Amino acid sequence: MTDIQKLLSAREERDSIKKQLLELGTILISLNLNIPGIPKSNQLLTSFFIIVRDQLKNWLLANRIFIDDSKEINTNHAAGDYYIVPIKNKDFSSVQVKQITEQFEESHPLCRFIDVDVVGESGENISSGKSKICFFCREHPAIECRRAERHTIFEIRKYQEEKIAEYLEKNRLDEICRKVANMASQAIYYEISLTPKPGLVDKDSSGVHTDMDYRTFIDSTVIISSYFGELVNAGYHCKTDNLPNALPLIRQIGLQMEKEMFEHTNGVNTQKGLIFLMGVSLFASGFILKKNNSFNQTIFRETVLKICENMVQVELQNANDVVKSHGEQCFNQFKVAGIRWEAENGFPSVFEHALPIILDKNSTDGNSLILTLLSIMSQLDDTNVLYRSNSNTLNLLKEKCKMVLDNYSFDKYREILEFCKAEKISPGGSADLLSITVFIYLMIKNFP
Ligand SMILES: [Zn+2]
Repeated sequence: MTDIQKLLSAREERDSIKKQLLELGTILISLNLNIPGIPKSNQLLTSFFIIVRDQLKNWLLANRIFIDDSKEINTNHAAGDYYIVPIKNKDFSSVQVKQITEQFEESHPLCRFIDVDVVGESGENISSGKSKICFFCREHPAIECRRAERHTIFEIRKYQEEKIAEYLEKNRLDEICRKVANMASQAIYYEISLTPKPGLVDKDSSGVHTDMDYRTFIDSTVIISSYFGELVNAGYHCKTDNLPNALPLIRQIGLQMEKEMFEHTNGVNTQKGLIFLMGVSLFASGFILKKNNSFNQTIFRETVLKICENMVQVELQNANDVVKSHGEQCFNQFKVAGIRWEAENGFPSVFEHALPIILDKNSTDGNSLILTLLSIMSQLDDTNVLYRSNSNTLNLLKEKCKMVLDNYSFDKYREILEFCKAEKISPGGSADLLSITVFIYLMIKNFP
């Protein structure tokens, strides 16, 4: 069979499908792409077709047009990708259905590549009566350009495939930003809701804090999460060579998040450290997912290492300016670089201690999260603890956590709670790294 014969036979097949469905006596809606020349389909066009088909189904449902899924037909043959479905409604005329599908076509960014046809109960094609403008030159009616063969099939196909590739890329980016941002929020809510926690704010208690409670953390999380997608997007667009210069890009967004956090918490610092850690993590995730469909923890760690290279030296050892944060004060007093050290070393507490535990438990339930938190507390030089106490107390806390981890029971965990309460200490840095661990765990699970 020649290509033309294949095309004609595919069109006949479409007609016979349509005829069969018409016997149901309901309105039919069909979708195909407006592709000149052959082949009528390829991997790119099919990916685009599937997205448009699902968008069309969603639009119909949003307009209370109920399709009969059990009778829908999807084909992909010489005539291209094709979808046809009868509708169940008796309360819409075929003209009304046509108006609704036209709204769909017209509002689509690539509307000229899409053809939605409506066939009435008696088999008549419902036409909009509007003449479409040529999508290539945007000057003449499409039908005129076609008849006069104003443009070559090659140039039209090239234009179409470029536009479709751009659209698919944007669609993929939007989905990645949404999905990754959601996981970061999920991880933070799991951490703040974990109850009871030593010295920290949890659902039932403000721990050793007097200026914040569970609601303060909810307020602050809602504010900062609205920036998560932007951070993923920034990482997605970062070129490999620019990775060592990424920190100011992350900080630029982070500073805005911080400003809004303070506005919404009446000046209380709930999540400044987390903004930094999650900022780097979201940026690194966007960077990785541009090239890979799956999330690889080794590549993630390497990416964090590149972003945060020499951070302690540049920001703490060479800092001559006015000392501000708790972390900076602790560095001056105890020579402990806290989360900057963690970031510069690619989150060793997370990758070497916490992540193996949560992956082994394969769960984000309370028990798994308590063990994961303890594993971080047993390793981390938490500047939030140091700031309120001293090196001896921090070392004692780390030792106690190690012992509890070796032979865990809830009663032993309770001793850690009591110790933090008595010493008035709150391991905020460990809590932040718990959020990061849960985030990475969710990324591994959701981008396999
Ligand atoms: Zn034209």
